[in-house]
Amino acid sequence: EASKTGNFITQIIDKDNETGKHGGKVLTRFPPEPNGYLHIGHAKSICLNFGIAQRYQGQCNLRFDDTNPEKESVEYIESIKRDVEWLGFNWADEPKYASDYFDQLFDFACELIKAGKAYVCELNAEQMREYRGTLKEPGKNSPYRDRTPEENMALFMEMRDGKYADGEKVLRAKIDMASPNINMRDPIIYRIRHVHHHQTGDKWCVYPMYDFTHCLSDALEGITHSICTLEFQDHRPLYDWTLETLNTFHPQQIEFARLNLNYTVTSKRKLKQLVDEGHVEAWDDPRMPTISGMRRRGFTPASIRNFCERIGVTKSDSIVDVGMLEHAIREDLDANANRAMAVLNPIKVTLTNYPEDKEEIFTLGNHPKNEEAGTREVPFSKELFIDAADFEEVAPRKWKRLSLNAAVRLRGGYVITCNEVIRDAEGNVVELLCTYDENTLGVNPEGYKPNGVIHWVSAKHAVDAKVRLYDRLFNDEAPDAKHEGKTFLDFINPESMAIAEHAKLEPSLAQAEPGVGFQFEREGYFCRDLKEEGMVFNRTVTLRDSWAK
Ligand code: ATP
Ligand code: MG
Ligand code: MG
Repeated sequence: EASKTGNFITQIIDKDNETGKHGGKVLTRFPPEPNGYLHIGHAKSICLNFGIAQRYQGQCNLRFDDTNPEKESVEYIESIKRDVEWLGFNWADEPKYASDYFDQLFDFACELIKAGKAYVCELNAEQMREYRGTLKEPGKNSPYRDRTPEENMALFMEMRDGKYADGEKVLRAKIDMASPNINMRDPIIYRIRHVHHHQTGDKWCVYPMYDFTHCLSDALEGITHSICTLEFQDHRPLYDWTLETLNTFHPQQIEFARLNLNYTVTSKRKLKQLVDEGHVEAWDDPRMPTISGMRRRGFTPASIRNFCERIGVTKSDSIVDVGMLEHAIREDLDANANRAMAVLNPIKVTLTNYPEDKEEIFTLGNHPKNEEAGTREVPFSKELFIDAADFEEVAPRKWKRLSLNAAVRLRGGYVITCNEVIRDAEGNVVELLCTYDENTLGVNPEGYKPNGVIHWVSAKHAVDAKVRLYDRLFNDEAPDAKHEGKTFLDFINPESMAIAEHAKLEPSLAQAEPGVGFQFEREGYFCRDLKEEGMVFNRTVTLRDSWAK
C-alpha cells in the first residue's frame, strides 16, 4: 500500500520507463549503516525505497553500509533486519553488505591508481584541512599528488599489507583541488584502520570511504535509482565522477528531504547518547523514536506506513508535527483495538445493597463500531474499583462523574449513587459506600438522571498490573536546535513516564498478547509490554491530543 500516491521520484521513474532507460526494471536499495537502531526517519526511507519497488513490481535490496567497523555491530545488523521486516517489507535475496565488495572495491581503487586518477597522500589531518581550502578559497595540491602510478601502487599494496599505522597514509582520488565543490577536492577514498570487522574479520586493515563505496556498491548491484537524503546532493558529482571514471553501470542518484519531527531527536548519534548515558532504558525504550521503541510503545506497522505515506516525499526540508504520527496510531487503534476497562488509580466502591455472595457476568462488545470484534465477559460483584479521578465529594460544575449524593452509570452495568465517603486519618478518600439501582441494567432510571458514565472493575476479579503512562520524551519543539548554553538533554520531559503501580484491570486483559493494542476506556490506548514479564502495560497514546495548541 506504500507509495500509492506519486511524487517527484515516481515521475522520474515513469519517464525512465517511457524511454526504456533500464528496460523497465526498478531496483532500489535501503542502505543503513549498522551503527545504531533504525528510527522513524529511516522508516520514511524504507517506505519510500521498498514502496517504489512494490509500485513498479521491482525489488529493493537491504544493504549494510559497513565501512566503519569500529562503530558497527552484529546487534545493530540484527535489529535492522527485524525492524524492516516488522514494517512489512521484504528485501531481495539475502541482505547485502558493502563489505561483500571489499575485494572488488580494492581492485577499483587499483584501477584508478593505474589510470593516474588516485594517489597515496601523507598529509596529516591538519595539513589535509589546510590544503583543502574553503568555500571561498580554492585548495592547494598535495605535495604527493604527482607520484607515479607505479609508486602509488606499491604504496597502496603496502598500506593493505599493514606496513603503516592508522592515519599514516591515505588514498585520494585525483580530481580538482580548485573545484567549487569541496567534495571534489581530491577526496580520501581509502584509509588505514587496524580494526576487526564484524563481517570480514581481520582480513583488511584498509577500508574504503563511504563516497567511494556507496556508488560502486550501487553499480555492482545494478541499482537503477539510488534514493538518498538531500545532504548527499553535494556528493552527487563525486558519485558520478567515480562511476564515469571507472566506466561501470551508472545508477541515478536522486535526493529527497529527510524527515524532521518536532519534539523529537532523529540522529543515531544522539539516540545512542540517550541510551549510553541512561536517560532512557535502552534503544527500544517505548519513548524512543526508534522503530523498536515504537513497536514496544504499541505502534502498528500500518500506522507508521500510513504516516510515511501522508507526509509525502519532497525536495525541500520541513518539520513535521509529531502530532501527525500520534494521530496515525490513534486512528488505527480507534478502528482496530478492542475496548477494555482498566482502573489506573483505584479507590474501592462497596455496593451496600448488593448481595454479599452474588456475582453477575456482563457480556460487553469489544468494539462499539465493529460487531465482528465479538464480545467479552466482565464480572460484577459487591466490591468494585473506580478511578480516584472519577470522584469528587462536592461535584464541580458540569461534573460528569461520581460525587456524594449523586448518581453515575457504570459502563455496561448499573446506575449507582454514592451515599457515604470513608476517609483515612489523613483525610484521603479510601472507600465509597454506594447503592445500586437494580432496575437500570441497560435501562434509564426512573425519576432521576445519572451524571455520566464511568469505568470500573470488580475488586475480587481484578488483575493487578503496572501501567506505564508514556508521554513525549522532549518538552521542547526543537530539542535539537541550538539553544544558548543548552543541549537536547536539557529538554528531556521529566514527565515522559509516570507509572500507575497498582492498576486494576478487568480479567479478560490477563490474556492480552504482548504488543496488541487495547483502548482502556476513557484512558487511552495501551498494550502489554513485549519484554517485561507479568502484567506490565504501556500507554501508546492518549485518546485525544493533549499537546495541541
Ligand atoms: P543518522 O542521521 O540518524 O545518523 P544516517 O543517515 O547516518 O542517520 P544511515 O544508516 O546512513 O543513517 O541511513 C540509512 C538511510 O536512511 C539513508 O539512505 C538515509 O538517507 C536514510 N535516512 C536517515 N535518516 C533519515 C531521515 N530522518 N529521513 C529520511 N531518511 C533518512
Ligand atoms: Mg548515513
Ligand atoms: Mg550517521
